[in-house]
Amino acid sequence: MTFEDSPSWAAAQDAADPLAPLRDEFLFSHPLYFAGHSLGLQPRKARDYVLQELDDWARLGVEGHFAARNRWVDYHELLTDPTARLVGALPHEVVVMNTLSVNLHLMMVSFYRPKPGKYRIVIERGAFPSDRYAVISQARFHGYPDAVIESDEPVEAIDSNVALVLIGTPNYLTGRAFDVPALVRAAHAHRAFIGLDLAHGAGNLELRLHEWGPDFAAWCNYKYLNAGPGGLGGVFVHERHANAEMPRFEGWWGHDKARRFEMEPRFNPIPGAEAWQLSNPPVLQLAALRASMELFDRATMPALRRKGDALTSYLEWSLKDFEILTPRQRGSMLTIRVPSGRQLVTTLAEHGAIVDFRPPDIVRITPAPLYNSFTDVQRLAALIHG
Ligand SMILES: *Cc1c(COP(=O)(O)O)cnc(C)c1O
Repeated sequence: MTFEDSPSWAAAQDAADPLAPLRDEFLFSHPLYFAGHSLGLQPRKARDYVLQELDDWARLGVEGHFAARNRWVDYHELLTDPTARLVGALPHEVVVMNTLSVNLHLMMVSFYRPKPGKYRIVIERGAFPSDRYAVISQARFHGYPDAVIESDEPVEAIDSNVALVLIGTPNYLTGRAFDVPALVRAAHAHRAFIGLDLAHGAGNLELRLHEWGPDFAAWCNYKYLNAGPGGLGGVFVHERHANAEMPRFEGWWGHDKARRFEMEPRFNPIPGAEAWQLSNPPVLQLAALRASMELFDRATMPALRRKGDALTSYLEWSLKDFEILTPRQRGSMLTIRVPSGRQLVTTLAEHGAIVDFRPPDIVRITPAPLYNSFTDVQRLAALIHG
């Protein structure tokens, strides 16, 4: 693709873009919004879907569990098929529940079972702080305070001492996407479990989790997936563990649905990822997420990835005189190093353009293919060049 720095060229790309109409499904907090890797914009329908549940609650009280237009008792199942399509999973491999850091801990209860000689955890160097806190506190909890290995090339750090590999892809700061199949092969060759943190991958990369075969994955839905602040997370547990006897923290929402309300004393798990559910989920949050997932289904991930790649390549081309930290293997986010980054971000904000700044000099910019356009990118680059 050859690019041009002109409003008319960008407008022509937008006119030819079959995904362009989806932009109108969002409420823009700022004219130029490039922070979808941090908090996605609000889908117009989110308000209606949340209001419907507030109305049903007002009308029905407790009876809403079974009598709401969308029954609350199985409301989370409305998200199952769209989520499975989004990450390339089978429906019984995914569930929407809790939030990301909580889910990472719940997954590690099952998939981090260290013993002498096999207790190490490999993570990528420069992982998101919450992920570091989570793995380090798990290791300490099990009595292995120095278990965690941080590596630039995690695939090379995996050996027979490793019990768990946990990789964030793409990395939240650099935007580097990892070769997941290669990591899975290396982990499984050494009989280690492997999990993915897809906070920056879900809704951004084209994923084939079932085929690639990691043991688990977890992500938040409020970045690329526009579920709103504090929105619920997603979890994938590979089918091979669907009926496995394994340690797990359990609660009534993971119990056999047909008999959940019989309040039996013995836990009888739902086969698959739903067995990890603890509590009845917050329906208002699920409702907001549903609005966004419908748009992902309309767009489809392959088309979004193509457009995301085109927008990001255009941005990269437009910023070629900057130091770009993001490699070719990436999603839609581009990270640049700008010595006067704080000043730049303030100036952009004064012109209605939102990007994100990490001290001392890192600027992250994401053209989200669901709602950003070539014209957005052209205008942002013009502002950056002043
Ligand atoms: C955003 C992000 C989180 C945030 O975790 P929450 O529990 O949702 O607050 C964790 N890990 C990574 C890699 C992230 O990008």
